[in-house]
Amino acid sequence: MKRRLAVLLATMLALLAGGAKAQLRTQVTLPLEAEIRRDLAKAPCDNKERLGAVKSLFSQLGATDADVSVASFKHTENLVATVKGSGDGFIVVGAHYDKASHGCGAVDNWTGIVILAHLYRTIRVTAPSKTIIFVAFGKEEAGLVGSQAMVDAITKKDRESYCSMVNLDSFGFARPQVLENVSTPKLTAFVAEVARENQVPYASARVDAGADSTSFRDKGIPAVTLHGLSNTGLSLIHTSKDQVDQISAESVHIGYRFALMLIARLDQCDCKAFR
Ligand SMILES: [Zn+2]
Repeated sequence: MKRRLAVLLATMLALLAGGAKAQLRTQVTLPLEAEIRRDLAKAPCDNKERLGAVKSLFSQLGATDADVSVASFKHTENLVATVKGSGDGFIVVGAHYDKASHGCGAVDNWTGIVILAHLYRTIRVTAPSKTIIFVAFGKEEAGLVGSQAMVDAITKKDRESYCSMVNLDSFGFARPQVLENVSTPKLTAFVAEVARENQVPYASARVDAGADSTSFRDKGIPAVTLHGLSNTGLSLIHTSKDQVDQISAESVHIGYRFALMLIARLDQCDCKAFR
């Protein structure tokens, strides 16, 4: 029997408070920091290898070939893995897999991909109320191409059933934060509330950068981008210094935990709550 996502959340919080790190029970796995570190080290420096590497990561974390599909668009490809909910409505959890031309794109955005894949591993054996769509977007750096292609394929009528979108972009330096300029206000406020309620590290800072939540926000879908950048992190993305050795796996691990908590809470919310 599958454990409900909300129950999983409560158990996870109890475990974290007690300092326990890994096994919730046999099927549900919360990653150890060492596993996050191991998967961060897999960041390919060549854009051509990135989609294949995301696919491998998902399969190493338990996805079968049938669980994962590639949505092909005119200019890019997105990788999609869905966990079916018992009720109506969708939550999109996304992270872009492409990188800027300089550096290895380890921070921006292999960190987001590692969090995405581990969230999928944890959530796939639970029973969410809403259907959760995990998407690795292509060509974010070329102008949000993959996320735009996804939202463009959703009809105006169907947009209403997209309750929220959580985008993960660039972690490894600081506590989780919302990239406010690309996020919708009600959902941003909710993220802060979830952090407060659970007394987890969270910060709010204004950073001017683009991210895939914009594509959803612009179509009226409540969306938020989470990141974990400090000024140091911000200064090295899109440069040759964007390398795995710059990243704190602990910070990425905290990002994963925060995102899991947020998704579990969003799963319980009314689909109209953030519109
Ligand atoms: Zn990015």
